[in-house]
Amino acid sequence: MSDYKKLKEELFYENKNAFLRLDEATIDAAYGFCEGYKEFLNLAKTEREAAAAAIVLAEQKGFAPFARDKKYKQGDKVYFNNRGKAVAFVVFGKQKAENGVNITAAHIDSPRLDLKPNPLYEDTELALFKTHYYGGIKKYQWTTVPFALHGVFAKKDGSVLTVSIGEKPGEPQFVVNDLLPHLAKEQEKRTLSDGVRGEELNVLIGSRPFKDDEGSELVKLAVLKFLNEKYGIKEEDFLSAELEMVPAAKATDIGFDRSLIGAYGQDDRVCAYSELMAVLDVESPEKTAVAILADKEEIGSEGNTGLNSAFLAHVIHDISLNDGSDETVAFRHSSCLSADVNAAIDPTFADAQEKRNASFLNHGAVITKYTGHGGKYDTSDACAEFVAKIRALLDKAGIVWQIGELGKVDGGGGGTVAKYIADLGADVIDVGVPVLSMHAPFEVTAKLDVYMCNRAMYEFMK
Ligand code: MN
Ligand code: MN
Repeated sequence: MSDYKKLKEELFYENKNAFLRLDEATIDAAYGFCEGYKEFLNLAKTEREAAAAAIVLAEQKGFAPFARDKKYKQGDKVYFNNRGKAVAFVVFGKQKAENGVNITAAHIDSPRLDLKPNPLYEDTELALFKTHYYGGIKKYQWTTVPFALHGVFAKKDGSVLTVSIGEKPGEPQFVVNDLLPHLAKEQEKRTLSDGVRGEELNVLIGSRPFKDDEGSELVKLAVLKFLNEKYGIKEEDFLSAELEMVPAAKATDIGFDRSLIGAYGQDDRVCAYSELMAVLDVESPEKTAVAILADKEEIGSEGNTGLNSAFLAHVIHDISLNDGSDETVAFRHSSCLSADVNAAIDPTFADAQEKRNASFLNHGAVITKYTGHGGKYDTSDACAEFVAKIRALLDKAGIVWQIGELGKVDGGGGGTVAKYIADLGADVIDVGVPVLSMHAPFEVTAKLDVYMCNRAMYEFMK
């Protein structure tokens, strides 16, 4: 080898495709891991469903609800269920909480169309639902996509009815219609962000009127009659419901080589599943492992099930009480992988990224030192010392990873739960999976990246 080549190899940083770096057995393991991931995506399309599915899997591995009067020791496994929408799984370590705990935090809510509190109406002999979109979406993407309806009706008597229509083969589905191009001359003058407006995201749910010679709103009446017979609800019960229209499509392999996965809600169930499978494999860690599946990230981590609430603080408080630790000290000494997706570079829209600092599909788990937007606003920027620690941890375990910024400096931006955990005093960095078409009804990830994210979570918590 010539001198310059040798020197270059020694000094340059190069991040190669994971297919060129991993052995066949690891690649097979990644493909196998993603079979379970696709199943999870199909049965967990809402935060409630993801929380419930996660708890079922965890209980099979010996996790039980946290009990304040019990004394826990290394290897004991508990969970904290926050209203069925957010969960924290804990595997107790050998060391006391005040020596620090290892936290991973993903979110299980995804962009979607929520039904308004009073959603049902009839117009032009069609029955429709009014919606209020949840999270940051390009609204035009959510028309002419088959939807399934998921959620709950909470009734005045305290009972809660679970709803899922449009997932099982043969079940009806729903759709938001769009204007035909022939007549869209005026619509096409709108800007892209205004192309389809929030109040135009109305879901078609029926067209067959209740048969009677007189009366109005007979299609709406027929829909209510159906819902009353199936669920025992009346129109008023929509007032205390949480109903979500989510894309009905199932998770599937993408590409001739099956190297990619296409599905709804991969932001952030890809990290949620990776993290969950990791914590379920943790047996007797040195430091206590805490894996959080949070709600409400897509609307700013607000509310009592989001991570801008006291949920995590309460979990650390309870763990600390259990071994007589000071919780403030526990936070100060804790570390966190904020597990969330980043934007993979898309050759068609490569202009949105700065290539030297963008994440690529198949280059492994992506570490994001800071998110936010122009001028590093609204982000926690991980300390170099902590980044070095994570670099060392991942490299030692043979995990393929890359570093990624979220787009060009002044191109826009976004955030994760990282800053809320940083606020509590812990060291935090984002580690996740690069995704294409983020926040669209159908997002794409790469199998090797998903598996590398899972391995990273495991190494961090084990
Ligand atoms: Mn996310
Ligand atoms: Mn998101």
